[in-house]
Amino acid sequence: MNGPAAVVLFTSDLRVHDHPPLRAATTGGRDVVPLFVRDPAVDRAGFAAPNRLAFLADCLADLDRALRGRGGRLVLRDGDTVAEVCAVVREAGADEVHMAAGCSAFARVREERLRRALEAERCRLHVHDGVITAVPPGDLAPQGSDHFAVFTPYFRRWVAEPLRAPLAAPRAVRVPSAVRSAEPPSRSAVPGVSRGLAAGGETEGRKRLGSWLARHADAYEERHDDLAGDATSRLSPHLHFGTVSAVEAVHRARGRGGPGAEAFVRQLCWRDFHHQVLAARPRAATDDYRPRHDRWRRGPGAEADLAAWREGRTGYPLVDAAMRQLAHEGWMHNRGRLVAASFLTKTLYVDWRAGARHFLDLLVDGDLANNQLNWQWVAGTGTDTRPNRVLNPVRQGRRYDPEGAYVRRWVPELAGLGAPEVHEPWRLTGPDRAALDYPEPVIGLADGLARFRAAREGLLAPEE
Ligand code: FAD
Repeated sequence: MNGPAAVVLFTSDLRVHDHPPLRAATTGGRDVVPLFVRDPAVDRAGFAAPNRLAFLADCLADLDRALRGRGGRLVLRDGDTVAEVCAVVREAGADEVHMAAGCSAFARVREERLRRALEAERCRLHVHDGVITAVPPGDLAPQGSDHFAVFTPYFRRWVAEPLRAPLAAPRAVRVPSAVRSAEPPSRSAVPGVSRGLAAGGETEGRKRLGSWLARHADAYEERHDDLAGDATSRLSPHLHFGTVSAVEAVHRARGRGGPGAEAFVRQLCWRDFHHQVLAARPRAATDDYRPRHDRWRRGPGAEADLAAWREGRTGYPLVDAAMRQLAHEGWMHNRGRLVAASFLTKTLYVDWRAGARHFLDLLVDGDLANNQLNWQWVAGTGTDTRPNRVLNPVRQGRRYDPEGAYVRRWVPELAGLGAPEVHEPWRLTGPDRAALDYPEPVIGLADGLARFRAAREGLLAPEE
């Protein structure tokens, strides 16, 4: 053995490629304990949801396989992260712990507790930047502020920022045999998982990144809003669990070049943008980033509307299709997310927190930074410079699902309809209408718009 062992604590970075903490710990050929802790505090904080737990089980199994292929294994523990890391440090006789820097308040508190506990063990904590995001939060800031509050100036600085080169996976990982591991979770044992949930794991993520860049990236700029075409990368769960590295994704897309790859890199910048907002303003996960003094609807009417929205029974085909895709796959197309969130917060005037909660309960990529700040963006309490824009679900349907194929895929009651009725089933008359087993709209769009405008009085904005 070359000196004392090191522990690598995996969190949202479940990969062996381009992994600075693993790379730093294995350099010099020392023994390493690759560790993942299933911490009940994560469940208590409301982060655990069946779809993410099932995807996580795939990720952990795949990480274990990758480590075994290099002579090691993944050590799993159940319990408080700090207590388990300290126990593993003692069992392995480690003098260093390596981990990725987190962005949320939860991650920061955990990091700080760990640092203090490890000091008592005479063990050093190394926190690595640029593992979870491409550009670390806090690296870029405008004059006079600790973060960028508007995307475009952030993007200008972000594209000019040099990125570290991606790191190769270590060739060998040697794990001390004395360190015990808990039983790995199994995807099939998780109840309540969406039937169409994608498979997790680094192997799957790398395959998707490679094949999507080769086959679909060139068309991304024109096709990213084509709901039926489903032409986006679907890498979001892999980026969330870190089975694909954001740094590597940016490098590989830039290596490919062209307007499609550039547009994709711009979306990866949105991810970093939201992470740097959350890192600087942790309370934005729950509180309005820019309060608009909304008095969101409450009471039985609002509850009934929220329930109809959750179930995909609002009577607006595009909203319902998107909500049903979410329930079936644990994932939703970005255009669907925009329309469904605008409908809830602006047309129904229901608090964005209720919608964000439902998304977090189901989304496999459900992520505090991206979810809460995108919800705030749509609700107009976030970083959008046009906070009062309202998306009209019928116009959005005509524009981004012109043939109605997306709606027909997810709302079988409307499968027999063509355009334009598929987006406006209330146009049907007589027996056709009577035969349709599909709800009437929960609200007229003009009424919703008028209520929203009155609520945000004086702030008129055109519909889109
Ligand atoms: P692509 O179009 O292929 O984009 C590539 C990557 O860029 C994505 O995987 C994602 O990591 C990033 N990205 C793209 N758009 C955004 C964006 N607007 N904000 C931040 N990152 C972006 N994304 C999440 O990862 N987790 C969430 O919980 C989440 N919640 C959302 C809630 C609402 C209301 C809205 C409007 C958007 C939300 N998004 C969230 C952003 C976006 O919808 C998804 O990242 C995207 O649809 C994922 O599909 P994709 O991987 O095919 O994206």
